[in-house]
Amino acid sequence: MTKNKNHEAMWQAYFKEHAYLEQTAGWQLALEGVLREALDPVAFPDQSLWQDMTKDGLPLLQHADLQDRITAAAAEAFPRVISQLLTSEALVMPDVMRQALCGMEHLKGAQNVFAALCRQDDASIRSLAETHAIPETSLRLFGWAVLGALVPEEAKDASLWEALGWKRNYCPVCGRPPVLAVLRKEQQGRARFLVCDGCHTVWPYARVGCAYCGNQDLEKMKVLEPEGEEEMRLDVCEECHTYLKTYQGGKQRDPKVPDGPDVSEIIYRHDWATLHLDLLAQEQGLVKRGSVLLAAAPVFDEGEEK
Ligand SMILES: [Zn+2]
Ligand SMILES: [Zn+2]
Repeated sequence: MTKNKNHEAMWQAYFKEHAYLEQTAGWQLALEGVLREALDPVAFPDQSLWQDMTKDGLPLLQHADLQDRITAAAAEAFPRVISQLLTSEALVMPDVMRQALCGMEHLKGAQNVFAALCRQDDASIRSLAETHAIPETSLRLFGWAVLGALVPEEAKDASLWEALGWKRNYCPVCGRPPVLAVLRKEQQGRARFLVCDGCHTVWPYARVGCAYCGNQDLEKMKVLEPEGEEEMRLDVCEECHTYLKTYQGGKQRDPKVPDGPDVSEIIYRHDWATLHLDLLAQEQGLVKRGSVLLAAAPVFDEGEEK
């Protein structure tokens, strides 16, 4: 309970400096809250099997039986969740969102939609959205919000994936490319972790180089440090013209545990909390990747580790 109170105060402080985010944040956080209450995570195979399941680069949710289980659970829960979202008092949404939700309430063949999302099958997602006359971005947004809530918390933990030795540039749980990165203090300097926008898993990755194309040539990497946002920087790759928002540590630490975990990382792990930095990057012609709103070719071919 105290933890939630602390988090609330932290968000309030953040909104003071970023007033334009308050509306977006309001419904995004309410959405998270409603889904957390409404959904129980699906049963994953025993944790002792995860290392073996992922050793050839196939993320957990790309295993057919688990994918079937989570997409079936999502499809089964979807009508109930949508009607809860529509009647939630905490959730004040823009009208377009509300209309999209109404359109999704009686979605036929929902399991196909969730399976297409899991497979990152952009062509199917587009055609399913058209068939059901639902904006594609809404389908992606709410679809992933539900899938993410069905993934057990223990699977999202960076230290677990560190122990299991996952070092690829896509999510070990669902297979999506990262949406942003966080640097964490470790015994020897700082280590880089990538964050999934779909299921919110965090996993370790090489400290330098491009997390999208694997470019290691530092001459072709540059760092943009936006004014007034010292917690975040943009790692730009001139090879593939992408950027990766990277959280480099915050001012706010829990005063009771000054050496404890960096609590403001919780804010910055939300992609939408720094949308203003995306605008800045896109003004410079850089390409965003990894957001659930965007179509993106899957990267989880069981190929070589980058
Ligand atoms: Zn994921
Ligand atoms: Zn690159």
